[in-house]
Parts: sequence; structure tokens; C-alpha cells
Amino acid sequence: MTVIVRYAPSPTGRLHLGNARPAVLNWLFAQRQGGQFVLRLDDTDTARSTEEFAQGIETDLAWLGIVPDRKARQSDRFASYDAARDRLIAMGRLYPAYETADELDRKRKRARALGKPPVYDRAALSLTQEDKARLEAEGRKPHWRFRLDGRPVKFLDLIKGEQTVNTASMSDPVLIREDGTYLYTLPSVVDDIEMGITHVIRGEDHVSNTGTQIEIFEALGGPVPVFAHHNLLTDSEGQGFSKRLGSLSLAQLRAEGYEPLAVAIMAAITGTSLPVEPYASLADIAEKLDFSMISHGSARFDVAELAGLNARIVHALDFAAVQDRLGAKGEGISEPVWLALRENIARFPQFLPLYEEIFVSATPLIADEDRDFIATARDLLPPEPWDGDTWGAWTGAIKAATGRKGKALFLPLRRALTGRDEGPELRALLPLLGRKASLDRLS
Ligand code: GLU
Repeated sequence: MTVIVRYAPSPTGRLHLGNARPAVLNWLFAQRQGGQFVLRLDDTDTARSTEEFAQGIETDLAWLGIVPDRKARQSDRFASYDAARDRLIAMGRLYPAYETADELDRKRKRARALGKPPVYDRAALSLTQEDKARLEAEGRKPHWRFRLDGRPVKFLDLIKGEQTVNTASMSDPVLIREDGTYLYTLPSVVDDIEMGITHVIRGEDHVSNTGTQIEIFEALGGPVPVFAHHNLLTDSEGQGFSKRLGSLSLAQLRAEGYEPLAVAIMAAITGTSLPVEPYASLADIAEKLDFSMISHGSARFDVAELAGLNARIVHALDFAAVQDRLGAKGEGISEPVWLALRENIARFPQFLPLYEEIFVSATPLIADEDRDFIATARDLLPPEPWDGDTWGAWTGAIKAATGRKGKALFLPLRRALTGRDEGPELRALLPLLGRKASLDRLS
């Protein structure tokens, strides 16, 4: 059996870390199983879905390294949903109900006041043809509810283990709104059946939907896929991510220069027993991450952890990758320059500005009280060729000549040579600056 998974976002906003999590987990599962990944846009809500968001989702997934094997849009598939709707009506599983939102609200309040669960009372099931005709003559339009079996629906969740959703305690869900538009529940099942989806991997906020949807799968003749409900990412205060919280949108993280691999690792590994580490690739995580490692508790995301991971990934980038990324802008930058500077950046786009600052536009800082010291240092600069030992030999000679040591020795040299108080290791930097630039900066 070929594994087929789907990631089914609604194009009503850009992806953020929270909703990138199911994308990455589906992708990793498909990779691990040698399966296929379907990107399905749940765009039945035509008022809120936009082409721009649809494109944005594809761009964001591609940035993460996720390339769908197949793409589909629910808005292209209404004929299939209509056919399923008609079958469910014919079976007596889908029935029209005419209550207004206000009437339903009152029913719920009354039920609560009587200490009963606010579950829909199925009054619409007892409407006669005349009742319906009268209501429609009054101008009411029906919404359509799925008649639940009302039983313990059991399934074996790949992450959470044995689950039971008791549909007896749920209201018959509305599948079609008054205006004839579909809520996501039915189209999702129809698509999962017709696209041969074998595994549905999604957030644990969908567990009770799964109870309802299993009943719909069965009513439509299945097959019922395997389900896996993962914990949801929360911010460090435990609050859920919201699509409207643009600050951690993938687009924003990309603009800020984060590595897509760092973002993918955080989306996948947070809230699992695997350590947050610079895994080499998505394939590497796919090999290591088993769903049994996903915690049943929450998955707290810490932006500092992302920043730290990102820096570790950047620090390990090899020069070939750097050259690739810099293209023409990298001309004249040698491997030792990259190696000398890389530990001093947290995000890759910081590299060229740091290079410029240190090699091109540095303004030497020499305090008045250090003038003589710097002049002595200048006189002691050895002749070239320079290598990794030059710094040690030179500062040893300065120390002997001036008696300075520690910070009093090194900080004025750093400030004169780089114009900064901290930065790359001078031992590596000095031979890269060369004697001529060093002499200039020390005067
Ligand atoms: N469009 C649904 C959502 O974004 C999909 C849920 C599912 O994977 O079935 O929540």
C-alpha cells in the first residue's frame, strides 16, 4: 500500500509556525514511508479564501523544502461534494433544519438552564413535508445536518493511541450552510476517499471532528484512513498561534533571514522527545522522528530556541553553500574570510554587512590614552607572510614591550583593527586583513 497523506490548509491567511507543523509532520511521514504528499487547499469558504494566500502557501512550503506530489483545490470539486450530499440525503443521514442562529442559541441556553448538555435536539427530524413547505414559504432556507449514529467511535491514533469519541454527546454537525456552501467536514471526507488518502495527520484540535468524520467515511462507504493527531504549538506563554499573529509567519521569518531548515526543525521537533539540534536535512529528521516521540502534552515554542538553532546551522555552513548563496556578491570573499566571520552572525544575511564593516569600512577606534600603545604595536608588526601564528607572536612582542596584558592589551588592538569592541577572533582575522590594512588602521 502506498502511503498518501494530505496537508489541507485554508487559503485564508499566510502560514505561521503553528500551521506549518502539520505540513512538516505530513511531509516527514510521507518521506519516511516512501509515500506521497498531497497539498489540498480547503477553499470552500470562497469569501475568505484568496488566490494570493493560495500562492503564499505554496511559496512558504517550497521554502521549507516541501514539494507536493499532487495539488488539489476544493473549489474545483463541488460536483463530487454535491454527489456525496445527494447520497447522504437519500440514506436519511443528511437532513434539513430551519432554526435560525438565535433560535439555536435560545435552545442551548434552555438546555444549560436545565442542566443538560447543549446538544441539538433534532427537532428538525420531526418536521413534516407541510412544516417544511410552510417554513420555506416564510422565506427560511435550510441548513443541513448529518445525523450521527450517536455511539462511541473508536480509532487507533498513531500518536495518541486508542481514542474514543462519543458522538452521542455531540450535536448533529451542520455540513451545509443556509446559503448552500459546504463547511469543511464533508468535502474533506469526500476528498480523502477519492484521493486515496491513507493517513490523516493533523492537529489534536480535530479529534472530535474525527469522530464525526469516521461516521461520514463509513456512511459513504469508506475506506477510513488512519489518523494521527499531533499536539499544537503554543507560544512560550502557552497561548495558541493565530493566523493573524503575523510576527511568526513563515514569510516574516524568511524576510528576517531565518534558515528554512531551522524553521522546519522547530515546527517538527518542538514538543517531541528528540532534541532540538541542527539536523542535516528534512530527510535526516524523517529518519529520526517516529510519531511515538511526539509528546501528549503541549509543544511550547520558544523564539530564542529558534534563534539559537538558526545560528548553529549558519555556523556550520560550508563555503561552497555560502558561495552559492552569495553569487556575484560573494566575489573576492575567500573561504578563510567566511570561516573567520561565521561564528559572529546569527542569520546568514548578516554576513555581508559584517564583512563590509570589518574589511571595507571599519573606522579604527583609538582612545587618546592608547595612542602610544598603538604606535608601539604598529612598530612591532612583523613582516609578511602572515599566518595563524602571527597574532600570537605579535601580541607576545607587544606585551613584552609595554607590560600590558589581558583586556588592556587586546581590547585597544581589536578596537583599532576592527572599529568594534567584539567580533571575530583576531588570530584568524589578522592574516586576512594583511599588513598594509593593519598598518593603516593602527595609525
Ligand atoms: N482545513 C482544515 C484545517 O486547516 C484541515 C484539517 C484537516 O487536516 O482535516 O484545519
